[in-house]
Amino acid sequence: MAPTDPLTKHFRLTTIQLSALKRLGVQTVEELLRHFPSRYERAGGSERASNLVPGTKVTLFGTMTKLKAKKLWKSRRNATTGTFTDASGSVNVMWFNQPYIHSYIPEGSTVKMSGAVGGAVGKPYIANPQVEVLPPGSITEGLFSTDRAAEVAPDARRGESVARGVQNGTVSAAQGPRNDTDGAVSGVLFPVYPESRGITSLWFYHALKRVFENGAHSLVEDPIPETIRTRYNLPDMTTSLVYVHTPEKEGHAEAARKRFAFEEIFSLQVVRAMERAQNDVQTSFPITDAGNQAKKFLLANPFPPTGAQSRAIQDVLEDFSKSHPMARLLEGDVGSGKTLVAAATSYAVVTSRPPNRTSGTLQVAYMAPTEILASQHFESFIEYFKDLPINIALITGSGCKKFPSKVTRGEATDISRSQLLKWVASGEIAMLVGTHALIQKSVQFQHLAYAIVDEQHRFGTAQRRALAHKGDSTPHFLSMTATPIPRTLALTIYGDLDISVLDELPPGRAKITTKIVSQKEKEIAYAAVRSELEKGRQAYVICPRIEEPDPENMNALQAKSAKAEAKRLQKDIFPEYRIGLMHGSMKPKEKDSVMEEFTNGKINILVATSVVEVGVNVPNATVILIEGAERFGLAQLHQLRGRVMRSSHPPLCFLLPESKGEISMKRLKALETSDDGFKLAEADLKARGAGDLFGRKQWGVTDLGMEALKNVKLIQAAREEAQALVARDPSLKAHNALMKRIETIASAVHTE
Ligand code: ADP
Ligand code: MG
Repeated sequence: MAPTDPLTKHFRLTTIQLSALKRLGVQTVEELLRHFPSRYERAGGSERASNLVPGTKVTLFGTMTKLKAKKLWKSRRNATTGTFTDASGSVNVMWFNQPYIHSYIPEGSTVKMSGAVGGAVGKPYIANPQVEVLPPGSITEGLFSTDRAAEVAPDARRGESVARGVQNGTVSAAQGPRNDTDGAVSGVLFPVYPESRGITSLWFYHALKRVFENGAHSLVEDPIPETIRTRYNLPDMTTSLVYVHTPEKEGHAEAARKRFAFEEIFSLQVVRAMERAQNDVQTSFPITDAGNQAKKFLLANPFPPTGAQSRAIQDVLEDFSKSHPMARLLEGDVGSGKTLVAAATSYAVVTSRPPNRTSGTLQVAYMAPTEILASQHFESFIEYFKDLPINIALITGSGCKKFPSKVTRGEATDISRSQLLKWVASGEIAMLVGTHALIQKSVQFQHLAYAIVDEQHRFGTAQRRALAHKGDSTPHFLSMTATPIPRTLALTIYGDLDISVLDELPPGRAKITTKIVSQKEKEIAYAAVRSELEKGRQAYVICPRIEEPDPENMNALQAKSAKAEAKRLQKDIFPEYRIGLMHGSMKPKEKDSVMEEFTNGKINILVATSVVEVGVNVPNATVILIEGAERFGLAQLHQLRGRVMRSSHPPLCFLLPESKGEISMKRLKALETSDDGFKLAEADLKARGAGDLFGRKQWGVTDLGMEALKNVKLIQAAREEAQALVARDPSLKAHNALMKRIETIASAVHTE
């Protein structure tokens, strides 16, 4: 059995199991070995049949006997009763309306049982538990090795019940407690694997047992060089595989997880370092007079840049003067003024001649995440560059525009797509703003020198590359994001980029007031909205996020709830105002026209799903109500309230959670007190893990890797080691196992 063997070579699998394994990304023996337990359950731990507390939930390991189906005399309901026994004692078990349960659980079988404890102290029972039948001996023998006896608590050897258990052959090996190194009494750690429909944790348990018996775990190559492993005291691959699947104590599982987390982050960092090295050998267009041009632009601008904006502009200009293309991330909270940085530096590019040419200019591409934003930015750039003798164009899925119009001076005009493509290819359009449409193959530039991507986390790395590879020279690349990304995550997923941060808001912004309001006190929020509307201002009402695996279906559900809410508000709460509606299932044209009406003030209240999250700019909107607030991440809520932080009017944000869970309330409270997006993102990372926040799949980071992001030291060490290694061995010639690992990760990301 070789690690690279497909599982089908060694296991007989049904089609259902095959597709379940495919979903889990487990197709080879090595992938099976890398399918780690999501947690461990402890047999003979603190939860025992003898000390059950009614009202709690427990998981117990032991034997099931005396299963009997009966009809309850009073209610005529079907019931099954049985006795569960572990080393400490017995407890009665009951199932209602599951008349066939006894046929699934053979008499005397070893089981894992989870359920709620009912009854009273001294007379507990367990009702309707989940029962999993385990392989015989799995408790007494430890996991895969026969020399590991089960350990039970000291009092387990008392009493008759143990004797019965002994006869059943399950706890017969019960010996005295064994102290492990840290002195604690431990039981057997039972691995629980991530499951998928058609494949159970238990299947993994058995399959892995076979793999270990075959010794295949000792054939997996270790991608981490030994010197690095030694430096950080990380167990080697084989040991780690044993530790993670069959830990004798928690310390083993922990050491293994730390090692695999390090391996993952280290591998990602090696990829980033290699990408960076590749970037730095490319050539870009020289932009000779950039400093002066940017200065000229800023002098003409109605307001001076903030200190942070000046620094970021300077960073970009310095990169422009290097021979290799810039690769930079501009992180700035909502409203921090990223557009100005993009505009000042773009100005320097569109006023530059291509090399050896006496006419024409270098070109800029600006990619926005939505049509609404692309249109807004197209308008802004017209405003910024209207005095320059250049053409600016817009390309989206629903059409193309060009400024200036040949017919009406000072205005943009619709043009055909083919016309636009021609002008972009011939270099007549100096600045092209657009959505994803911008990275289609058909869009070819003459002299693309600068590519800006707004809200890059919405685009994958592949798309970024597609944009960067139009034309001959590699364009300078600036990625902008308002998503406050915790530092560790930024270093990992954007590890190939230099980072500039706008940590300062333009002056004169009123501070936002955020209030958590219960559903009962909703009137408070509505009153505040009404008072803003009376002053001629506008409002957003955001509908709850609906979790749904299928994106189409999710859009449809959200649309439905937004429609219903708009209708209700119109009818019952704000009949005198005009209410608009926006959701993800609308066509871009429909969204645009709603947005235009909102921008012009024709709509007073915009009811929307979180589609308004990114970048929409309507300064007259000063109040936002967020329904189902607890369903959003803090960083996302912060983005949403950013919609009303665009003017000097004091903005208001009302969070209306649906439930009053203590944890979610505590989490939301952070928004009342902090308006630092970065801090909120860090808090999110701590509270919920990064997984659901940042589209983990897109980056190919596993749960374990995401967990590691909480560990600044680990990230930094992995990054430093990766950079040093790539500097020494740029094509990983001397690090074969690492190269193979990286290729596997890369292909996994591409097939997502
Ligand atoms: P974001 O970083 O969210 O993209 P924008 O670039 O849209 O922010 O800027 C938000 C608002 O702040 C805009 O209305 C812009 O005109 C204004 N702004 C940007 N920079 C400054 C500045 N230095 N002084 C005053 N206002 C500014
Ligand atoms: Mg913006």
